[in-house]
Order: sequence, then structure tokens, then C-alpha cells
Amino acid sequence: MLKIFINPGHDMDLDPGACANDLREVDIVLAIGQEVKNIMEGIGYPCQLIQSDNLNGETAGKPNVCGTANASGADVFVSIHCNSAANTSAKGTETLIYNIGGKAELLAKCIQAQIVNSLGTVDRGVKTRPDLCVLRETIMPAVLVETAFISCEEDAYKLQLRQRAFATAIARGITDYEKLL
Ligand SMILES: [Zn+2]
Repeated sequence: MLKIFINPGHDMDLDPGACANDLREVDIVLAIGQEVKNIMEGIGYPCQLIQSDNLNGETAGKPNVCGTANASGADVFVSIHCNSAANTSAKGTETLIYNIGGKAELLAKCIQAQIVNSLGTVDRGVKTRPDLCVLRETIMPAVLVETAFISCEEDAYKLQLRQRAFATAIARGITDYEKLL
């Protein structure tokens, strides 16, 4: 049984993340992350959740997320975010990984497919982002899920009203991945 580490992005005090369409990324990703935790724990998977603002490095005075995850013995690390763009027609789901060719790519593909299939979001694919701290400094397969674009009205509507479906899709992506190991 995999141990799951869930990392909703941004911070209630320091950084709300992307804000648009009367929504804040920090609130949406925490709600989705807590629901992923509820679902996974409900089917017997040990889970830990820390929200954090550390895409570019650990935040002083806050729990060290990568260090905590690495010490926890977690088997997978899933960071949850919303995307945003100046062009309000940009939309869809993408999943970010440190590099191609490892277990993280497999996990990313499983989560990406579940979200696109169940939410009907545009499939923007799996992309490498070696600059992101949470992908670079974690020792287990790690992915950062850009659920949908908060800046696009159509996606924002889903992010507001279909949080449970996003969570279910992420949870199913994790269990799909486990079956492939
Ligand atoms: Zn974010």
C-alpha cells in the first residue's frame, strides 16, 4: 500500500497563488487536497498533507515540505495547483515532473488521464519543470498537477463546483499508477 504525500500549493498567509473569477488558488487546491486525503485514507492508504508556498525553495518559518516528505517514507508526492494565464482563453490540465523516463512520468500520465477523462478538460500533457523545488528536492516519484486554469471562466467553473471530481480523479490516478508497478 503506497504512502501518499499531498502538497496543496501556496499559503493562506503568504501567497494566495493565482486569483481570478472571484477564486483563490490557495483555497481551491487545499479543498481538493483534503478531499484526496479523505478518499485515499478511506480506502486504507496512509496520507500526509502539508500546504506550502515553496515552488522556488523552502519558506522560512514554515515546515520544510520536501524534507518532511523525504523523512516520511512517502512513496508518492503529489503537489496540487491551479494554472493561470494573461490570455483568459488558455485552458486545460497539465502535470509537471522533474524529468522524463522515471516513475514520476508514469504517475503523471495516470493522474493526467483521469482528470482529462472525468472533467473534460483540455489535455495539455505531461511536461518537465526541473526548476520547481518540490519536484527537484523530493526523493520519491513527485508530480505537480496543474488541475485547470483559474483565469479561464470555463475551467474556473469546474475548479469551483467540481472539486470532488478533481480529487477523485487524482486518487484514481494514484491507484492506477500503483497497479502498474
Ligand atoms: Zn500555484
